[in-house]
Amino acid sequence: MKCEAVVMPPVSSFSIICLSSPPSNHFLPLSLSRLHSEEAHHIENFCILPYQELALLIEMGSTPFCYSINPSPSKLDFTKTHAFSPVAKQFYLDLPSFAGKSGIRKRRALIGVKAAAAALVAEEETRETAAESKKKPRVLVAGGGIGGLVFALAAKKKGFDVLVFEKDLSAIRGEGQYRGPIQIQSNALAALEAIDIGVAEEVMEAGCITGDRINGLVDGVSGTWYVKFDTFTPAASRGLPVTRVISRMTLQQILARAVGEEIIRNESNVVDFEDSGDKVTVVLENGQRYDGDLLVGADGIWSKVRNNLFGRSEATYSGYTCYTGIADFVPADIESVGYRVFLGHKQYFVSSDVGGGKMQWYAFHEEAAGGVDAPNGMKKRLFDIFEGWCDNVLDLLNATEEEAILRRDIYDRSPSFTWGKGRVTLLGDSIHAMQPNMGQGGCMAIEDSFQLGLELEQAWKQSVETNTPVDVVSSLRRYEESRRLRVAIIHGMARMAAIMASTYKAYLGVGLGPLSFLTKFRVPHPGRVGGRFFIDIAMPLMLNWVLGGNSEKLEGRPPSCRLTDKADDRLREWFEDDEALERTINGEWYLIPHGNECSVSETLRLTKDEDQPCIVGSEPDQDIPGTHIVIPSPQVSKMHARVIYKDGAFFLMDLRSEHGTYLTDNEGGKYRVTPNFPARFRPSDIIEFGSDKKAAFRVKVIRTTPKLTRRDEKSDGKLLQAA
Ligand SMILES: Cc1cc2nc3c(=O)[nH]c(=O)nc-3n(C[C@H](O)[C@H](O)[C@H](O)COP(=O)(O)OP(=O)(O)OC[C@H]3O[C@@H](n4cnc5c(N)ncnc54)[C@H](O)[C@@H]3O)c2cc1C
Repeated sequence: MKCEAVVMPPVSSFSIICLSSPPSNHFLPLSLSRLHSEEAHHIENFCILPYQELALLIEMGSTPFCYSINPSPSKLDFTKTHAFSPVAKQFYLDLPSFAGKSGIRKRRALIGVKAAAAALVAEEETRETAAESKKKPRVLVAGGGIGGLVFALAAKKKGFDVLVFEKDLSAIRGEGQYRGPIQIQSNALAALEAIDIGVAEEVMEAGCITGDRINGLVDGVSGTWYVKFDTFTPAASRGLPVTRVISRMTLQQILARAVGEEIIRNESNVVDFEDSGDKVTVVLENGQRYDGDLLVGADGIWSKVRNNLFGRSEATYSGYTCYTGIADFVPADIESVGYRVFLGHKQYFVSSDVGGGKMQWYAFHEEAAGGVDAPNGMKKRLFDIFEGWCDNVLDLLNATEEEAILRRDIYDRSPSFTWGKGRVTLLGDSIHAMQPNMGQGGCMAIEDSFQLGLELEQAWKQSVETNTPVDVVSSLRRYEESRRLRVAIIHGMARMAAIMASTYKAYLGVGLGPLSFLTKFRVPHPGRVGGRFFIDIAMPLMLNWVLGGNSEKLEGRPPSCRLTDKADDRLREWFEDDEALERTINGEWYLIPHGNECSVSETLRLTKDEDQPCIVGSEPDQDIPGTHIVIPSPQVSKMHARVIYKDGAFFLMDLRSEHGTYLTDNEGGKYRVTPNFPARFRPSDIIEFGSDKKAAFRVKVIRTTPKLTRRDEKSDGKLLQAA
């Protein structure tokens, strides 16, 4: 008789019941031997019942119990899903309470149950002995990148004999060229948890959480929000970890350590393989040959394994080159914003907090592949490409050292229906290299690794049960089958995201050549309006599916929420209210002299004191309390304007000045401030006292001492406290 034990995760003092029906995903299946040994200390009361006997107990009126997991973040504990009550050892022995008229018959049935349970234990032990005497398949992996290492870990954890061939281990040690941080999203973190909870913990500990803040799309020029993404709810509502960003170097080190040096063969360039039907042989560049039961090609977008399987095929150029850099820079809204995509026409820019006071950025620009920059010319070129873009972009470029900038052309590979042949399969970029816009390429490699590990384990179990050779080939095809559709959809989404990010047009006239003067009228582009409507509806559905869509498959993962992954209480408000989000800006506010005609050379700092009035005028007036900003300029009146700070926002009030006060917002709209009426001003706005442009300032909010952008150079970096 077939019997599966099902045990709750080790949080309960009483648990376990058995059934022979397929175990639910909500349960953690354990073999009986493991149950007796390593997990036994978690279980105080249990019995082992074949499913039929369990059904009998229920029929007899008993109420055995069974728990499943409630993934709701509000209920972090386990909730009953069946009308069950505890089945305990005692319950097993003291059954008379439910014996009615047919009690004797039922008692007999239970004696049968006991005997059946004993037989099962014996059967399981025999099977274990058979399993021990059988050799597990030997797994060969080409490539020790994210995919190769995570898969090697999964296979190792399941007891397979693994060998990883990596052509250049220095990439693992972090000397590889593209070693910037990588975003590991909820779906991949959950898969990693299912593979090895210890490693997942280590990765999460080392990562910087971005999924608990506002992420989304903004207009590249004005910096105003276009669409915000909620990546927190899809994760938290399923009890998944929240998205993190981690240095690739750190990630590789954690994985390499967990996989083990003895498993990773350095300087092992896989150049060929032979599949003879009953084994596969890997051939290295140095002539060495290794036999195994299967080969996993995890050797990246330019995969040799793939070439050898299907013949050489060109990768697809995305049309974009990508500069990346890391800057020591902390934006003023770091507490509330994780990553931002700055949209533009045929170019876009992505910035992300990576922790430790650093920001990573990617700058995408449409151009032919193979472009090369002049020596030390990357930063200059980027300033040219992104000229006129908002401060968030320019500040990051400015804060990045030339040597910290890398450039590469972006390629992907069209999804393929066939992932492998015979004893060989592909995993990660080797089969589904995708554009980086969804931040899912590496995440998909991690999901692949989980699934492939699972299929191999199932093939192994089946071979033990049926005492037949392990059906490696079928297990590889099952893995490919179960991954194909999800990966293809996410691949398509990544391409679509690239198109959306680069075809964005803020105003009518953008990209219209001779008609580009139309942009002056600031008529919102219909594509921008329609696109936003579409994204508002589609994005939550998409994120739900991408971040949580694989979670039900993750057998073995403790399905619990992480209490540490808690978002700010104001997160919901920030999604709905740009104004509230803006008030989270935490930095010093400066007025930086602006424009060639400006006669002021000093940068002014504004004080955030609600009780101290701040007066702007051409002469200080000692009779008026508070701070004074003195600007000796022809069109600045003696008492020109007042700067007011209230509830995290700054306002400007014109004091009936002769020549007026003007505000130009970050979308380029200019207006005269109504006298005696407070007007809100924001970062990047231009303030002019008078109309002659001699007292013009740009508003800048800076977390730390300002490093000025090119357009700020005029002020020479001098800072003056308003006096
Ligand atoms: C700009 C950019 C940003 C990205 N950001 C993200 C992100 O935020 N999140 C995310 O999930 N993904 C991101 N990605 C995608 C991600 O980097 C890849 O999907 C991921 O690295 C794929 O892992 P892999 O192991 O399949 O391949 P790779 O990382 O390419 O690893 C392949 C390994 O195989 C080795 N190798 C190659 N050939 C051989 C051979 N013949 N023999 C032996 N070894 C060999 C290589 O040295 C390498 O170590 C980004 C990609 C780019 C370009």
